[in-house]
Amino acid sequence: MISTRIKLIAAALGTAALLAPVSAHAQAKDKFVTIGTGGQTGVYYVVGQSICSLVNRGTSTHGIKCTAPSTGGSVANINSIRAGEMDMGVAQSDWQFHAYNGTSQFKEKGPYKDLRAVFSVHAEPFTVVARKDANIKGFADLKGKRVNIGNPGSGQRGTMEVVMEAVGWKMSDFKLASELKPAEQSAALCDNKVDAIIYTVGHPNGSIQEASTSCDAVIVPVTGAAIDKLVADNAYYAKATIPGKMYKGTDSDVATFGVGATFVASSKSDTEVIYQVVKAVFDNFDRFKKLHPAFANLDPKAMIKNNLSAPLHDGAAKYYKEKGWM
Ligand code: GLU
Repeated sequence: MISTRIKLIAAALGTAALLAPVSAHAQAKDKFVTIGTGGQTGVYYVVGQSICSLVNRGTSTHGIKCTAPSTGGSVANINSIRAGEMDMGVAQSDWQFHAYNGTSQFKEKGPYKDLRAVFSVHAEPFTVVARKDANIKGFADLKGKRVNIGNPGSGQRGTMEVVMEAVGWKMSDFKLASELKPAEQSAALCDNKVDAIIYTVGHPNGSIQEASTSCDAVIVPVTGAAIDKLVADNAYYAKATIPGKMYKGTDSDVATFGVGATFVASSKSDTEVIYQVVKAVFDNFDRFKKLHPAFANLDPKAMIKNNLSAPLHDGAAKYYKEKGWM
């Protein structure tokens, strides 16, 4: 009995001894990293998924395993990185600026000086889509209407609040101000639950395509003195155009303003991880550009400097220097 037990213990120890080096090795080698994205119907989700798929092709050499879950968007991503819950994320250029400097929505939390820029991605026009029957011809016509101002944590919600302040509106100026997520808002528009939806997003995208093909919807211009002033006063905004004929129901170009999507991390994010992530993207850049039509015109030289207000991450700078880009 005793000897049987000893034998069993020995067998168990033997198995453990055999397994131990393998699992210890795997633990030391594998680094699990997370990228914060946005709603599943947006372009940030594709940015994160694309970056991770390029990174994960090299897991056997660098040991990095990347995942890119759906999140609430820009502000939520920056807050998750700051809390140490995520390693990297996608964020609008305006929210990158405000987070680093502790302004606007980030005033209460204070400047986030550990925020690091990695590169910028596609342009994101501030996009208003309205039901055709709501008779909304410009941003000013949203007053008194049912408008989805977006989920808290999303970039568009924050930017909408900035625009509202610039034009002197309060939430009570809308008949209804809903807080639906991007994935829910096209259906709400077509089901006549709201008159208009707001999305700061790269074009073309599936969500607005869904709205414009499922019901009669039009893209509305966002122009006027308050917008001109926002663009003139802030480097992270620029005038933008949504090309005509991109979406059913909108045949002419639509003028608005916009931001840039950027990829960010923390100074605490591992230098080797960020280096490998950047290398995976730029060593396979032609492949990356084909992963979404909004990436078609990306140019590495512009991506490493435009729309970035936080300092570059060391791991990113290392790769750009090796390439002779800086
Ligand atoms: N710009 C949006 C945000 O910051 C996300 C757009 C997207 O998911 O592509 O929340």
